[in-house]
Amino acid sequence: MKIYNIAVLPGDGIGPEVINEGMKVLQALADVDSTFKFESTTFNWNSDYYLKHNRMMPEDGLSTLQHYDAIFFGAIGDRRVPEHIPIWELIMPIRKNFRQYVNLRPIKQLRGVKSPINANGPIDFYVYRENAEGEYSNIGGRLYQQTDEEIAIQNTVITKKGVRRLASYAFEYAEKNHVKKVVNATKSNAIVHSMKLWDEAVEEVASSYPEIMVEDVYIDALVAHLVQRPETYEVIVASNLFGDILTDLGAALVGGLGLSPSANLNPERNFPSMFEPIHGSAPDISGKQIANPIAQIWSAALMLEHLGRKDLSSIVMTAIENVIEDKKVLTPDLGGNARTFETGDAIVQQINHQY
Ligand code: ATP
Ligand code: MG
Repeated sequence: MKIYNIAVLPGDGIGPEVINEGMKVLQALADVDSTFKFESTTFNWNSDYYLKHNRMMPEDGLSTLQHYDAIFFGAIGDRRVPEHIPIWELIMPIRKNFRQYVNLRPIKQLRGVKSPINANGPIDFYVYRENAEGEYSNIGGRLYQQTDEEIAIQNTVITKKGVRRLASYAFEYAEKNHVKKVVNATKSNAIVHSMKLWDEAVEEVASSYPEIMVEDVYIDALVAHLVQRPETYEVIVASNLFGDILTDLGAALVGGLGLSPSANLNPERNFPSMFEPIHGSAPDISGKQIANPIAQIWSAALMLEHLGRKDLSSIVMTAIENVIEDKKVLTPDLGGNARTFETGDAIVQQINHQY
């Protein structure tokens, strides 16, 4: 039997609080299901580590992580450390070096969750966000600094290969799941070089899937449509920036950041993939045990699915939905007064009920 090796990076703020609940759920599964075994190692590469060592992880951090089957990540960010440091010295190196070029963000309205809008059906779509290039680059710079003529140039890097591999992954999912239409988030009418190449590369991939329609929708129109008729979407492919914006909007449509997981996927599986909630370290609520652990626990479910245990992932999702529908043990963001660990405990109980 395969024993999964999981690297755990709790991070800062509410990260350790919610990751605790995620680990509790994995342990609960291992306790009741004799077909599932894992081992985990915790790496406290967070802002405290940075303040002590002047770096976010040890020099051999990446080669250490490389040997794990998956990385389970909490959240990072701390007022004492400049905002760009954890992003550029921890998260980006992991995503880029481990070729996690697909950022999968399910936007799914779980059973029992109220949406702020009245959709004409359940909201349930996948955003495949490009995760390794695009608008979030550090190429560019500033000219004529400290003069009135100051200019900043920020380069977007779109590569045909980069878009193709992302789109291929999304279309493959669409084909497997009998999705008839993939929406391409674009803005090639105004961003004429990079988004044009983006569209062409998506179109090229689409041509290998004649049974799936591809619809190019400009990002500005798309955000409006997502508010007006979110239930009609199934799969969206988007660039790094557009995907980021779409999924924060999506999160708000289906219950907020406390209910929004994500997967940073390495489709080739030659490096570990990483699973983390969309939300940050939320310093405003950390240390109080009021953070919602469901985004983290759902991220664990995505990890199980990626590791080939869709069955266990479904068990976790059913447990989460039962707890939400039951309304008795919800954190304040969902209108309850439960503490973080109580929601985690309730989900564990619901897992045990299924065995
Ligand atoms: P970052 O820059 O790391 O994204 P941030 O402060 O901009 O951090 P978040 O940490 O995601 O953004 O928090 C945004 C808001 O959402 C905060 O007010 C926080 O309290 C709330 N929030 C985030 N995650 C959760 C959660 N799991 N449960 C409850 N509230 C949350
Ligand atoms: Mg934020």
